[in-house]
Amino acid sequence: MRKSKALLFEMSHAGRQGYSLPSCDVPEKPVDELLPRKLQRCEPLDLPELSEGEIIRHYTGLSTRNFGVDTGFYPLGSCTMKYNPKINEEAAVLPGFAYLHPCQPEETTQGALELLYNMEQDLIELTGMDRFTLQPAAGAHGELTGLMVIQAYHRQRGDYKRNKVLIPLSAHGTNPATVSMTGCEVIQVPGDERGLVDLKALKAVIDGTISALMLTNPSTLGLFEEEIEAIAKAVHEAGGLLYYDGANMNANMGYTRPGDMGFDVVHLNIHKTLSTPHGGGGPGGGPVGVKECLIPFLPVPLIDKKGEGFCFNYDLPESIGKVHSFYGNFGVIIKAYTYMRMMGAEGLKQASTDAVLNANYLMNLLKKTYHLPYDRTCKHEFVLSARREKKKGAGAGDIAKALLDRGFHPPTVYFPLIVEEALMIEPTETETKETLDAFAGAMEDIAKEINEDAEKVIHGPYHTVVGRLDEVRAARNPILRWNKEQQL
Ligand SMILES: *Cc1c(COP(=O)(O)O)cnc(C)c1O
Repeated sequence: MRKSKALLFEMSHAGRQGYSLPSCDVPEKPVDELLPRKLQRCEPLDLPELSEGEIIRHYTGLSTRNFGVDTGFYPLGSCTMKYNPKINEEAAVLPGFAYLHPCQPEETTQGALELLYNMEQDLIELTGMDRFTLQPAAGAHGELTGLMVIQAYHRQRGDYKRNKVLIPLSAHGTNPATVSMTGCEVIQVPGDERGLVDLKALKAVIDGTISALMLTNPSTLGLFEEEIEAIAKAVHEAGGLLYYDGANMNANMGYTRPGDMGFDVVHLNIHKTLSTPHGGGGPGGGPVGVKECLIPFLPVPLIDKKGEGFCFNYDLPESIGKVHSFYGNFGVIIKAYTYMRMMGAEGLKQASTDAVLNANYLMNLLKKTYHLPYDRTCKHEFVLSARREKKKGAGAGDIAKALLDRGFHPPTVYFPLIVEEALMIEPTETETKETLDAFAGAMEDIAKEINEDAEKVIHGPYHTVVGRLDEVRAARNPILRWNKEQQL
């Protein structure tokens, strides 16, 4: 393991200062007059004493230890780690947006309301739905909102028996988790040898207790469900609704729309497709769009046009209620809106074109070395299997670590579950051919190394700030803050 640089406390020198303040120019008062005795600190705080330069170097060093899209290629499948244009950030901190208070009366926030309204119109256009709520803060949150809307719809029709949700095996893990949270039961939809939903098997499990089918298209295998219209018809005929997991719209923009495929509800991850930063649990956005018949159940308030201006509409008696304080993560919405406006309709379509091109280019390079279980034209991502490498002693997880040593963020591993030793790779449209070639080169190099000396690969990474961690210990006994006694 590479020795980490000295920590702040270890660099501390008694009496060293990182600041110089002007002398006090108001009469000083005795502490007792300012603060009751019992609230006063008895012993001085044990803070490190350093120069300003040392502190800057320390934090700048820390900021480069983690991997980010601004530092390198990040082909984390299903996560769409595309470049986040910096102009998004500039728009979000414009004083007219940043200094608004969410409780301000609506006549003083017309610009913000207009932006939210326009954002909704753009999402409607992009997805073919009829209305959107911008409140949900993430994809999983959007799923929960969408399923609650679907459940409210069935109940309002007196249809109480619908408590089953169909989900294909390749689904993102949040889908079954969401279903459980709404108190429904998950019914697995089998796939066929092409990696697509098996229509016959689907029809066999559809009955009058189906609430919805949750699907993403293209699937997490990066494959387009060609029979989506027949699938939609079968579900609708049984009285069920179709939920579209639109976390990744990166292959679809300007080409296909969930609304046209027959879906009734869709959530988007604006922190994936629409380029707002994500990772580490920071703020995101998971707007939910619905078809006409589901509008009455959307969270309040909706934002409506009123004369020349815009207003909040709380008049939705059947609404499932609020799902986020105020109107969602406004700053994130500004960033996504800026991205859409900068790209324009043609630009978004080009992004999808390039995302699919990049994925197919990389897939064709890598299938020479790695097993490709579903060898068809892919959409925004593809899934390799490291089962051959596993037999030689090093699997998908080891390949991921070896990539870190070569300066790349690993792909998603061990997901989707239907592929053994899965490596799920999504290059996105913002990467150059040189980057893709370099990544393919690194992957080939790793395969070669596994052939020659798998033992070496299973103990990596060797060149990262910390080496291979004990993942079980990290999950069971996480050490989340530094303390003097407990050093890694
Ligand atoms: C990322 C993702 C989600 C979950 O989104 P979060 O914002 O992480 O909650 C759901 N479905 C798919 C297909 C995803 O890729």
